[in-house]
Amino acid sequence: MTLIESNKSAESILQTVFGYDAFRGQQAEIINHVVNGHDALVLMPTGGGKSLCYQIPALLRNGVAIVISPLIALMQDQVDALRQHGVHAAYLNSSLSTEQVYEVESALRQGTIELLYVAPERLMLPRTLELFQQLSISLFAIDEAHCVSQWGHDFRPEYIQLSILHQRFPGVPRIALTATADEPTQKEIIERLALHQARQFISGFDRPNIRYRIRENNGNAREQLLRFIRNEHDGDAGIVYCLSRKKVDETAQWLSGKGLKALPYHAGLSQQVRQEHQQRFLREEGVIIVATIAFGMGIDKPDVRFVAHLNLPKSLEAYYQETGRAGRDGLPANAWMLYGLQDVITLRQMQASSEAAEEYKRIERHKLDSMLGFCELTSCRRQSLLRYFGDRLNEPCGNCDTCLQPPETWDATVSAQKALSCVYRTGQRFGVSYLVDVLTGKQHERITQFGHDQISTYGIGKELNQTQWRNLYRQLIAVGLLQVDLEGHGGLQLTEASRPVLRGEQALHLRKSVKNDTATRERKSRRYDNDAESRLWEALRSCRQQQANEQGVPAYMIFHDATLMAMVENRPSTLEQLGRISGIGERKLEAYGEAFLEVLNAHPDNETVVSDSAEETLQLYRVGMNVDQIAAHRDLKPSTIYSHLANAIANGDAELSEVVTLDEQTMKSVRFALEQEESKKIRPVFEALDGEISYEILRCIKADLSRIR
Ligand code: ADP
Ligand code: ZN
Repeated sequence: MTLIESNKSAESILQTVFGYDAFRGQQAEIINHVVNGHDALVLMPTGGGKSLCYQIPALLRNGVAIVISPLIALMQDQVDALRQHGVHAAYLNSSLSTEQVYEVESALRQGTIELLYVAPERLMLPRTLELFQQLSISLFAIDEAHCVSQWGHDFRPEYIQLSILHQRFPGVPRIALTATADEPTQKEIIERLALHQARQFISGFDRPNIRYRIRENNGNAREQLLRFIRNEHDGDAGIVYCLSRKKVDETAQWLSGKGLKALPYHAGLSQQVRQEHQQRFLREEGVIIVATIAFGMGIDKPDVRFVAHLNLPKSLEAYYQETGRAGRDGLPANAWMLYGLQDVITLRQMQASSEAAEEYKRIERHKLDSMLGFCELTSCRRQSLLRYFGDRLNEPCGNCDTCLQPPETWDATVSAQKALSCVYRTGQRFGVSYLVDVLTGKQHERITQFGHDQISTYGIGKELNQTQWRNLYRQLIAVGLLQVDLEGHGGLQLTEASRPVLRGEQALHLRKSVKNDTATRERKSRRYDNDAESRLWEALRSCRQQQANEQGVPAYMIFHDATLMAMVENRPSTLEQLGRISGIGERKLEAYGEAFLEVLNAHPDNETVVSDSAEETLQLYRVGMNVDQIAAHRDLKPSTIYSHLANAIANGDAELSEVVTLDEQTMKSVRFALEQEESKKIRPVFEALDGEISYEILRCIKADLSRIR
């Protein structure tokens, strides 16, 4: 097969089997490279589309492709997903009965399997290797390749043995894939898997659809979390990470008590309970998993809309990997974290008391410093995150909290001097609460007992309140001017770095606290604020759920949210039109097309059909009522009235200028933004305009544009 031919058929497989229009990023190149029998090392962020990089070559080359994955629990899902696309896939792992194993083996001998998933320990069994030696193998894909790294947090000893693939099957191309590998890890992968000949495909690390946000923990973490979920993620699937099992249990229970579908997940639960909760998370809509970090590696659920951290992860690597589980489908998602004084103290203490070798400790310290520094940032978080991974973003991203609401800084030099000298005067052995009491001149027995009401820093800190002092201490620890005692009592001590500040040789500018969440511009919790679209969306979702139940697979395996959204947007009314929607390949069109068309046709596009309700709005509008008056009169939301009027504008029954009053300049820029938006969606425009023009108004202006054209 020539290069060009292979590419062409790769594209046709992309379209007919997977239902996608075009390759993303480096996919085409990678596929071409592997199809032609070469080795590859692929580094691509989560959600970048790594799977297709071996799945399509598997379908193009002769023989069976062997996919090595450490995640037994997920193999079934991966295989189910491929079968939904009409691909012959199977897996071999310890969860199968002897009979099932025989069945798979015999299918392999007959050559009817295109892709086989195996766990590394299963692959290494002599029986398996002998079997493979008799087969025609198209390629080896080594997924989660960073598991060979001894320094990483996911080290899997069996992965090291995978180098024998190279010796045993010299002619078979190998493709190793991972989303998390800094440079040393990349080197380790190449070394241990003998991939010296492999071409490297390194994509950037950016996950532009994830909005990074970090908030101060004001001592009411659970309420803050609940408010966040209710305001922005009503009915969405999400993951909440906590540090301890106890906190996981408490949080899950508390959220459930508030009416959310929240399930705990940690290593202290039985295998069966964990399995069940994971399955519910994958299969049901809107499940929230509250977990320790034991949860999540390789979770392929594409529509996780938020990841919340109630505790600080211990490194940016961990943060990036955990937050990366949000928004694999490329739709907007939130990475939301709370961070407070206690986190800083706990982590600093853990690190101080670590008994690891000095070199290892130095690395750990650097990692923790980077994590803390990231929390206290006043500039774009994404730029800093990417820089940490050796990647670059030239402009601030516009999609993180510091970009959306730039934090103010203040000159903290004098207050910091007071805080530091209070540590010094009290003998470098007290914790934050005590120090703050001394600074603010509290009267209590302990203070008098120690004679600390007599020292020069007693009561000199009236300019800040308790919370502000605590925040300041947090920041001083975070930036390394103070350290936490080794004994673990939380006592603070000065570090070398604090001297210049104490002596007044160095000024200190720190981040001001951001008041509360409502100040950050929030996403709509409902996907559609137009009633008709909303109803169609719900109807499509319930159709999807029904199909999923019948097939016994998670809903997203039928269609992703993005595919349903495209249906709402484009309103296909024939099978042929439906087949053109991204995410609908031939097999899925055949299996589900009719059912979804029925739903679509039962919800005709309201731009052409004027409902009675819209008619009534129009009549009131004609007699001179404005939107608010009509809404009040009819006891409907203004947004509903606007959607009626948008239709009226599109049909030429109402004038934009009478419905919407904007100054000419603004109107011009909105029109321009709407015309520029290729996807024809309103949301990107709403966001591009910083949320300053409401959806209702945008819809009316769009309706007007559609009429002009
Ligand atoms: P990764 O393994 O890199 O995290 P996946 O392979 O799971 O990512 O792909 C992420 C999502 O993107 C999946 O839902 C996949 O179907 C989708 N996807 C992959 N490639 C394309 C493409 N070329 N066009 C549209 N969607 C794609
Ligand atoms: Zn940013």
